[in-house]
Order: sequence, then structure tokens, then C-alpha cells
Amino acid sequence: MEFNTAGLISLEEALEKMRAYVPSKTAKDTESLPLAAAAGRITATPVKSPVFVPPFDNSAMDGYAVRCADLHTDAVLPVAGKAFAGAPFHGEWPAGTCIRIMTGAPVPQGAGAVIMQEQADVSEAGVRFTAEVHKGQNIRLTGDDIKQGDSVLPAGVRLGAAELPLLASLGVTEVNVWKALKVAVFSTGDELQPVGTPLEEGQIYDTNRFAVRLMLEQLGCTVLDLGIIRDNPQALRTAFEEANAFADLVISSGGVSVGEADYTKQMLDELGEIGFWKLAMKPGKPFAFGKLKNSWFCGLPGNPVSAALTFYQLVQPFIAQLSGHTAWKFPPRLKAKAVTPLKKSAGRLDFQRGIFSTNAEGQLEVRTTGHQGSHVFSSFSLANCFVVLERERENVAAGEIVEIEPFNALLRS
Ligand code: AMP
Ligand code: MG
Repeated sequence: MEFNTAGLISLEEALEKMRAYVPSKTAKDTESLPLAAAAGRITATPVKSPVFVPPFDNSAMDGYAVRCADLHTDAVLPVAGKAFAGAPFHGEWPAGTCIRIMTGAPVPQGAGAVIMQEQADVSEAGVRFTAEVHKGQNIRLTGDDIKQGDSVLPAGVRLGAAELPLLASLGVTEVNVWKALKVAVFSTGDELQPVGTPLEEGQIYDTNRFAVRLMLEQLGCTVLDLGIIRDNPQALRTAFEEANAFADLVISSGGVSVGEADYTKQMLDELGEIGFWKLAMKPGKPFAFGKLKNSWFCGLPGNPVSAALTFYQLVQPFIAQLSGHTAWKFPPRLKAKAVTPLKKSAGRLDFQRGIFSTNAEGQLEVRTTGHQGSHVFSSFSLANCFVVLERERENVAAGEIVEIEPFNALLRS
């Protein structure tokens, strides 16, 4: 069956409309957290270094610290002491002698160079050096990595395994981050049961809350889970009101289509304002976006693939914007050769699930995960990318070039 695609808005338009709702953040939206509690949070202000890195001149090699003036031809310099990492040399350093020094040890005052031990002949009388010496060699100077006061992280970056150890290395104890976004989640449907409950006739397990909660946690949100709401306007109204009282963002799934038990859109209209609700996207046509009294609202479609996909493509960037995560980027798209045919009819932008790899010639190839129904959630666990097929494109034959979008961390374990 051909859908009537008139009146559906494009993904780009939808993203643009959502972006227009994002308010600017203020200082009252920030908090200061100890490093260990800041994982996954977003910097609200640039982080400046309180120290120089390295904090003192130190040796890059195991070898000998020398004064350049002592290095005349055939000089043999007795060893006057030792400097270790964590145990500097503090003694008297007579002219015409050298100091044994290890990597990371502070370079003694007055040293002009460190000579690696592989270029030293050691005898009873002292050390003779066998290679040419340049002033400053093998000395890591104070601040040559980072100067005190340098900005080491901009505002708007997520604090993870690349960022937090850097701050730890500088002795930073607290970091100024945006407060976590509060998100309320519920699923709608008379047929849904939570995992762990036996299924009666006609019932299925609730997949969507699982998917959404996991992705929200990965995005650093604080989640309020309101459970499963039955297809009844009164129950739905109560859920909307409870969610709105707690959250910055409310996310539901199901009930946004045109069936007789689909009340979500009606409730959004009654309690708030509908921004838009039909996308020229497959899967994911019935996606509703709008505003409630104190919060934003995203109504995901009921079919699990559609719910996860619209979350990934629309809600993920929206949450990045609401969270102040300005460094967030849309996953890049690449060209790949389809090695299996792909079924497609014109009218909607299609996000099929695919498996990409590099072939023997070093080119990207992609094959389908198989059945692309919007209820086939196993397609996500088989896939490592979306195959993004343009709105007006039709069936793709093996050998044609298509765009792929490798999954980002949200869908990759
Ligand atoms: P709806 O949009 O409510 O008409 O739902 C569309 C399809 O998705 C129906 O087959 C529902 O049973 C199914 N569905 C809705 N919500 C969920 C959910 N949370 N988990 C799994 N399937 C769902
Ligand atoms: Mg339903």
C-alpha cells in the first residue's frame, strides 16, 4: 500500500522545530561536583588548569645530568649523587661532576642537559660521554604541556574517560557542570506487561521503557519511570500531570497513531501544545513533539524499532541541546556499496538496519540485517549501522552506493 505522504514533515524540519524550543541556560542550572561524581556530566564553564604540567623541569631519560661547561673533549665526570622520580637530588654538586638521574626525576639546579645512559661509558674514574650534547636535551621543561591558567576543557563537553583523568592529573577536585536533565518515562498500552509477569492472551512485554531508560541513563539524565499506563484517558491524564510536575522532558511511547485507543496526542493537545506529530520517516511516522506546562514532550511510536529509532534520531540531539552538550555531533554518514538488495518505496526517509564492513579492496560494504519490520527489534542487535535511504529513493539493487550511519555509543555496547 502507498502511504499518502502529504502533510508529513521531514526529519530536518522536525529537528529544526525542536531546536527552536531549546531555551538558553543560566548559571542557576549549574552545580559543582567532585570529579568522581561528574562522570557523564557536561561542563558548564571552561576548566582552567590550576598548575603547570609538568610542574618542574624533569628528565625524559635514564642517564646523567650535566653542566654544559664541563663537557670538554674526553672529560670524565665523577658521579656526585643520584636523582630519582619522587626523590630529588639535594646535595652539593661540585663543578666537573655529573648526577645520575632517572626518568621523571627533577633536574638538579644548573643542569644544562641530560645524557642517556646508552651514550655513557662508565668507569671507576667517572663517566665519559660518547655522543654530541645539545643544551636542553632530554629535559622536559616546566609547563611545556600545560601552563597554569590555560583552558584545558571548553564548556559543553561530556566528562568521560578522556576528560576526567586529565582533570585528576591537574589536581582539580571539583568541576562546574550543568544539572542533570530530569526525564519522566512511561509506556502506554492495554496489552503491555512488565518483564517478570506471566503473559495472558493478547499481551506482550514492554520493550520501549527498557530501551528508553537505558539510553537516557547513558545520556546522563535523571530518570523517573512511571511504568505502564493503560489506554484510558483518565489514567493517561494523571500520568501526564505527574510527569510534568517532576520532569524537564516527558517521554511516552505508543498511542500516537490513529487507532481507537490512541489518546496520547489528544492528551498533549488538551494539557499543552502540539509542535508537530507526523514524520516523513520510516520507521517512525507517528512521533509527536510538543510542550506541556513545565516540560517538553516527546511521544514515541509504539513499535519498538520505531521508538528506539526516533529516540536516537530526534530525542538524542534534543537532549544534547537541552543538556548544554554543545560538543555533541550528529553521527557521520559514509558511502558504502550495498551487497544485498534493499526494499524501499518512495515517500519517506528510511532508516534500515545494516551490517557494514570493509572489503578486501578497503571499500565499505553494507548488507541488510534481513526483515525490516518495525516490530523486529532483533535487527538492532544484529546491526552496526543504519542504511539511510533518501525520501524519494525506491528499491536498491546489489552493487548500488548507499549512505550508512554507523551507530554511536548509544546503540553500541
Ligand atoms: P500503538 O502506537 O500504541 O498503536 O502501538 C503500535 C504497536 O507497538 C502495537 O503492536 C503495540 O502492541 C506495540 N507496542 C506499543 N508499545 C510497546 C512497548 N512499550 N513495547 C513493545 N511493543 C509495544
Ligand atoms: Mg497502543
